[in-house]
Amino acid sequence: MAKEYEVVIIGGGPAGLSAGIYTSRARLRSLLIERGPVGGQIADAELVENYPGFPQGISGMELGQLIHQQATRYGLETLQAEATGLELQGEKRMVITTKGKFTAKAIIIASGSERSKLGIPGEEGLTGKGVSYCATCDAPFFKEKPVAVVGGGDAAITEALHLVKFAAKVKVIHRRNELRATKILQEKAMAEPKIEFLWDTKVEGIEGKDRVNRLNLSNVVTGEKSTLDVAGVFVAVGFKPNTDYLKGVLPVDDAGYIVTNERMETKIPGVFAAGDVRLNSAQQAITAAGDGATAAIYAEKFLSE
Ligand code: NAP
Repeated sequence: MAKEYEVVIIGGGPAGLSAGIYTSRARLRSLLIERGPVGGQIADAELVENYPGFPQGISGMELGQLIHQQATRYGLETLQAEATGLELQGEKRMVITTKGKFTAKAIIIASGSERSKLGIPGEEGLTGKGVSYCATCDAPFFKEKPVAVVGGGDAAITEALHLVKFAAKVKVIHRRNELRATKILQEKAMAEPKIEFLWDTKVEGIEGKDRVNRLNLSNVVTGEKSTLDVAGVFVAVGFKPNTDYLKGVLPVDDAGYIVTNERMETKIPGVFAAGDVRLNSAQQAITAAGDGATAAIYAEKFLSE
């Protein structure tokens, strides 16, 4: 038999955890489902410098654990499992997971997003063999070796700045001739002697027998082809929402994001979405936390009406 909750929260990043603080303090029987460690994507961040309350910064892992402790203190239950589907007919909604089914009167979807892939030859086969999507996780494997980072946003520059502590050289390969990243990150990267930029360049393929050893590049302005010898390549070209399990049950936009109003309500009453999984999220830990709190407050209102 499915276990019953008043609120089931899918996702244990800043959005889901913050929602959990609010629903448990509202004395709603709440379950949070998370497939990995608590903290979500922020757990991969070596240092979070823009979350209020931590003037010296804080490791993402510790931040996730602290918010989780705070929520648990008020009675939030946590289950390590993957949500694989929802059933939304009737008053009681069902969340289907790899560890059983759970009914909920309200659901808060905070399943976040994951790194986009480049979709080029060699990428899939060499993932974990020099192709990485997380410098915090994998940078130590590239001590004194040349590596590349693909992308020009905050994620790419944050990865490059972390990699200089290990790698011999870090080439940032960007498809345009200016970065999208926050100015303060740009300044840090420009001042770092180990970082070099390859502008107007896209990666067309990744080569290597057992491990990555070469990138095939193309200049998007001149069309000129070239190669770059590297031991690793870190891909940081944006994110894709984790909403595959909602297909056919909850409407999502063309890119897979959930549309909400300012109360974090989706098209289906009692179903809320918060954080990076929703359309127009600012994709920051602090805004995700705010979304989670908002969703929880309106979930409580929904349940009391
Ligand atoms: P982003 O800001 O969307 O930047 C993605 C970058 O990848 C862009 O430079 C884009 O190029 C490039 N790109 C996209 N598709 C590509 C492709 N197929 N091939 C080559 N390049 C491609 O994404 P993000 O950097 O992953 O960051 C996402 C969000 O997380 C942002 O809101 C960011 O602020 C936040 N974040 C913050 C921090 C921090 O505060 N320290 C760290 C990480 C992430 P174009 O510029 O040409 O579009």
